[in-house]
Amino acid sequence: MFHFKENNITVFQSSLYMTTSAIIESNEAIIMTDPNWLQGEIEEIRNFIDKHLSNRDLYIIYTHSDFDHIIGSGAFPEAKVIATEELKNNPDKEEIVNRIYDFDQRYYIKRNYVPTYPVVDIPISTTGQKINLGDLSLTFYKAPGHTNDSLFTIVEPYGILLTGDYLSDVEFPFIFSNYKDYVDTINKSSYIMNNYDIKYLIPGHGSVTKKKQEMLHRINFSKYYLQQLINDIGDLENECRTKFRFFVGMKSIHFDNKRIATEENL
Ligand SMILES: [Zn+2]
Repeated sequence: MFHFKENNITVFQSSLYMTTSAIIESNEAIIMTDPNWLQGEIEEIRNFIDKHLSNRDLYIIYTHSDFDHIIGSGAFPEAKVIATEELKNNPDKEEIVNRIYDFDQRYYIKRNYVPTYPVVDIPISTTGQKINLGDLSLTFYKAPGHTNDSLFTIVEPYGILLTGDYLSDVEFPFIFSNYKDYVDTINKSSYIMNNYDIKYLIPGHGSVTKKKQEMLHRINFSKYYLQQLINDIGDLENECRTKFRFFVGMKSIHFDNKRIATEENL
């Protein structure tokens, strides 16, 4: 379903985990992130692309390799794929695709395409790497910590920051790969805010924001959360319970975070 639309930006948001698919249109290309989740939702996105693409090229940026973010890959076989070289070389491709299969089995989901792991055409190997697509300029920042193949993209001249599974308003930091990397990546997001004119922050789950205050609040909350994880003073768990409507559903990740952070900081 539609979540946000302004000028050449359209953002769909799934009924599952408020997962977003962002579509940015320019004169020469359409750029999309992570088409997801359910068959009907992906069909809606597919129809939108078919209606709007005309003779332009379609690019998909996969923000990271969690299965919910690559679940729609098979429905867009013509797209040129942009992702980190870590996503391209991920050793667990088969396991990730199997998780999609398991999900569809569990919920009796029929799809009119075969889920596949994305084949990366444009691998991002260094932070600061740039691609120009017509009048758009994309600048990439490696963003490990959530997963080690995560990616930030800045789209200019529109000032769009695509953050994948960082800086959400509905989730605290999910540390699936590395605590220290996560801290560094959040510091990178501060750097980006200070060095680019960011007008839209589009996270992989939750809401788009155009408010600078809200963007800074999300960054500061992530910093605070990461710090509190190792300080363990105060009552981080109850703060999160108050702040996040769906905390009960993600509580176990908070305890995993605590374990990872503690182990890394011993
Ligand atoms: Zn996610």
